[in-house]
Amino acid sequence: MTAAKRDADTNGIDDMVLLFTDTLIEDKDLYRFMIESASYLFGLPKPLHLISRCDGIPDVDKDMAARRAYLAELAADTMNYIPALKWISDGREPWEVFYDRKWIGNSRVAQCSEELKQKLSRRWVKERYGPNEAVIYVGIDWTETHRVAGIERGWSPYRVIAPMTERPYLYKTDMLNDLKRYGIKSPRLYDMGFAHNNCGGFCVRGGQGHFINLLKNNRSLYLYHEAKELEMQAYLGRTDVTILTRTVKGVEQTLTLRELREEWDSGLGLQIDLLDIGGCGCYV
Ligand code: SF4
Repeated sequence: MTAAKRDADTNGIDDMVLLFTDTLIEDKDLYRFMIESASYLFGLPKPLHLISRCDGIPDVDKDMAARRAYLAELAADTMNYIPALKWISDGREPWEVFYDRKWIGNSRVAQCSEELKQKLSRRWVKERYGPNEAVIYVGIDWTETHRVAGIERGWSPYRVIAPMTERPYLYKTDMLNDLKRYGIKSPRLYDMGFAHNNCGGFCVRGGQGHFINLLKNNRSLYLYHEAKELEMQAYLGRTDVTILTRTVKGVEQTLTLRELREEWDSGLGLQIDLLDIGGCGCYV
C-alpha cells in the first residue's frame, strides 16, 4: 500500500495497475485491507458493500470449496468496482502446489511462492506488456534491500523499482501510522504479532516462533496445516521432509507441526526457539 501510494503521489494513478496474486488462503482481513486500500488509492468511495463481505469468507480449515467460490465472486465484483486492481489466482493453494511438485515447502524451497506468485505475476505481465511498456513496482522496504538483486534478476528485462527502499526511510510502524491518516484499518495479523500478512499467518518460510504465534492466535487453522503436513508425508512416503527443522547438538533434525504443538501444549516451550520467526521473502 505504502509503495503504491508513494508512486501514485509521484507519478499519478492514470497508468497504475495493482496486481494481487491470491494464494486463496489469505487472511480474511487481508482481502478487506486490499479492497479498502485500492479504493483509497484510486480515489473511490469506501466500498462498504465489498468490505462487509470479507468477514463472510469461508474459513480455510472449514470449507475450501466454498471459499474458492466465494472468493471468485468477490474478486469479480471488486474488479468491477476498481478496474485497475487485477485480482488473479493460479487456482491452486500452497498445499496443492506441494502435491503437484511432490515436496513440502520450507525456508529454502518454497514452490508455493514460485508458482502462485512469481510465475503467475510474470506470466500475467508478459502477456500484456513488453519490457518497454511496463515498470514493475514492488513493496519491499529499506530493511530488505538484499532482496532487490533477486527481484531484478527475476523480472529482467523489465525495469524494477522498489520505492520504499528509497528516502525517506520508513519503519513498518511509520507505514502503519500512515494508514491511520488515510482512515484505513491496518491488517489484523500485525496486531496479532505476525511479522507479515501472507497466507493467513501460515508460511512455509516461517520459523518455530512464527508457528507458535499461529497456534496461539488460531489453533484451528494451525491444526489444519498440521494435518496437511502429515498428509503430505504419507503421500510422499517420507517422514524426513517437514516445513520446520531445528539443530540439536549440531545436527539438523526435522520438526513436524504436530511435534511442535505437542511440545508447546505439554509446557516444553523453553526448548522452542520463539525468536525463530523466519523470513517470508514471498514473491522473490
Ligand atoms: S507466504 Fe509462505 S506459504 Fe504463502 S506462498 Fe509465500 S512462501 Fe508460500
